[in-house]
Amino acid sequence: MHAIDVIITKRDGHELSDEQIRWVIDAYTTGAIPDEQMSSLLMAIFWRGMNDRELATWTQAMIDSGERIDLSQVTRPTVDKHSTGGVGDKISLPLCPLVAACGAAVPQLSGRGLGITGGTLDKMESIAGWNLSLSNEAMAQQLEDIGVVICAAGAGLAPADRKLYALRDVVGCVESIPLISSSIMSKKIAEGTSSLVLDVKVGTGAFMKDIDRARQLATTMVAIGKRAGVNTVALLTNMDTPLGFTAGNALEVQESIEVLQGRGPVDVRELTIRLAEEMLTLAGLDITLDEHNPTKALDDGRAYATWRAMVAAQGGDPDAKLPVAAHRREVRATASGLVERLDAQAIGVAAWRLGAGRARKEDAVSAGAGVVWHKREGDAVAEGDLLFELFADDDFRFEGALEALSSAISVGNTAVSARPLVLEKIV
Ligand code: URA
Repeated sequence: MHAIDVIITKRDGHELSDEQIRWVIDAYTTGAIPDEQMSSLLMAIFWRGMNDRELATWTQAMIDSGERIDLSQVTRPTVDKHSTGGVGDKISLPLCPLVAACGAAVPQLSGRGLGITGGTLDKMESIAGWNLSLSNEAMAQQLEDIGVVICAAGAGLAPADRKLYALRDVVGCVESIPLISSSIMSKKIAEGTSSLVLDVKVGTGAFMKDIDRARQLATTMVAIGKRAGVNTVALLTNMDTPLGFTAGNALEVQESIEVLQGRGPVDVRELTIRLAEEMLTLAGLDITLDEHNPTKALDDGRAYATWRAMVAAQGGDPDAKLPVAAHRREVRATASGLVERLDAQAIGVAAWRLGAGRARKEDAVSAGAGVVWHKREGDAVAEGDLLFELFADDDFRFEGALEALSSAISVGNTAVSARPLVLEKIV
């Protein structure tokens, strides 16, 4: 088989055979096909797409490029969650221990953040001593003992995706529904979970800016999951305005702990509970019973106790003081009125410029950097009120962040009511 024939087949709008797909993924992973030929094929897929059969085979070939973790020894039902990423989206931190506290096992293999949406591992790493790297055996044991693990996906998990994602990033082929969905689902299926809830974000602070594309992505991922035997549902959730009051690694850990203690911002708590209900139901647990009910487990301390056990099991100190950035600035209101819009993307860019996120995947992030906002859409503002606090380790970072924030908030005379957090469910 020759790569050039596979490229031309797709370039001319024809279907790839299963054999061609399996060969091309295997040959690229082992280095037999160079980046320039794979780039060309990716661009052809970007424009021509793939049908359901091609996509299922493409995803399976990516899974088969590495190991599929076997969690069959774990006695609780396994269920995981994946978010396509949003600003202030720290939901995995309270959600995973909460679902474990309600009786399921959550094998959350995560990645680092790239761009304006932060990564779960970056947030967790702001906890002193916390170790992100676990062997498959240690992961299975922790799932059995505590019911939850958040750790890095090892190099053996879907190695084809590792190479393909890095290549797509530099050749303008990220925003393709078949390529995104196969990338996400190959990793989630390979991690061995039996059920999966997808949180597909829609809005200015998300990958998918409009609901039609988000629906298409969610439907495609749900179909891939089901076809591979993973019980999958998706929620489309609003990301026009950020979640909670914080964006930044340690800042978001602190806010997550508040939610785990039965407090915290209303929207973060609501989405955490809603996703937990979906996950537990998918795992076959009856959420009307107290022992499996997420609202009860947040309010009676079980979720927080599970968080502490999870952090400690991975070498972290749940009582350690979280890092604080060296410098702080404030933004105050210059007029009175009502907050008509608080824009997720502008806040995400500001947090990123302050050092909370990375531009290239080898960059380091600052644990203490980020933005705290003190008003939300619909709130009343008086001139002089504190709108934003900015945190950074380097003073030079404030200028760019302040510029991004200059368009983040609109104060006027119109009363806006909170938009629904969950827009649709795709089954
Ligand atoms: N996240 C992934 O893992 N893959 C993509 O293609 C996009 C987001």
